[in-house]
Amino acid sequence: MKLRCLGSGSSGNCYILENDSEALVIEAGIPFMVGKKALDFNISKIVGVVISHSHGDHAKYAGEYEKAGIPVFRPYESDMERQVRTYGKFVIKSFPLIHDVPCFGFLIEHPETGKVLYASDTEYIKYRFRDLSHILIECNYSKDLIPEDAVNRSHVMTGHMELQTVLEFLRANNSPALRSAVLLHVSARNSDPEEFVTEVGKVIQCPVWAAEKGLEVDLDLMPF
Ligand SMILES: [Zn+2]
Repeated sequence: MKLRCLGSGSSGNCYILENDSEALVIEAGIPFMVGKKALDFNISKIVGVVISHSHGDHAKYAGEYEKAGIPVFRPYESDMERQVRTYGKFVIKSFPLIHDVPCFGFLIEHPETGKVLYASDTEYIKYRFRDLSHILIECNYSKDLIPEDAVNRSHVMTGHMELQTVLEFLRANNSPALRSAVLLHVSARNSDPEEFVTEVGKVIQCPVWAAEKGLEVDLDLMPF
């Protein structure tokens, strides 16, 4: 199973979990056409789309998938905090995050990947998870990189995950099962992707990537 990043950040988020026969789209902040091209127009393999929240950089193009008859999971449209969907061999559980609008993370299980955690956008994650094999997590900014006098300082620091919060979460959810971590939604400003990868690498003993358009990561349950 591959994770493919078609976009990560405020200009549009979209990730695809893809193997030979199935594809799960995470976030629809990039036009459907871009997703179709990425899949060589083999759209019948898209088993579903999951969307964390209503902001355009995550949800703008969801309707285009629906028009094509693809199921779209929008847990933020329901009052239920936890919901489950089964799309193909993916079993997807939602859990609430901390953002300025209702927002949800996903625990995605597939026989090829084990437990994959996806969480963006959120100030922190209030749950602990056991035996995660892959963690896809927002690492938006470092407070050390925001100028003290920046007018938007408090806005930037609300509703998105700071490097130290990410490190704390990873320490608390680390396990021998962990195979990789991918840092998502790294801000264009107030961030340093290379430094973030280095800092995260000090906390967990597996490969770490910063998501950017074009990134592909193998999420199989291969032994090291
Ligand atoms: Zn948002």
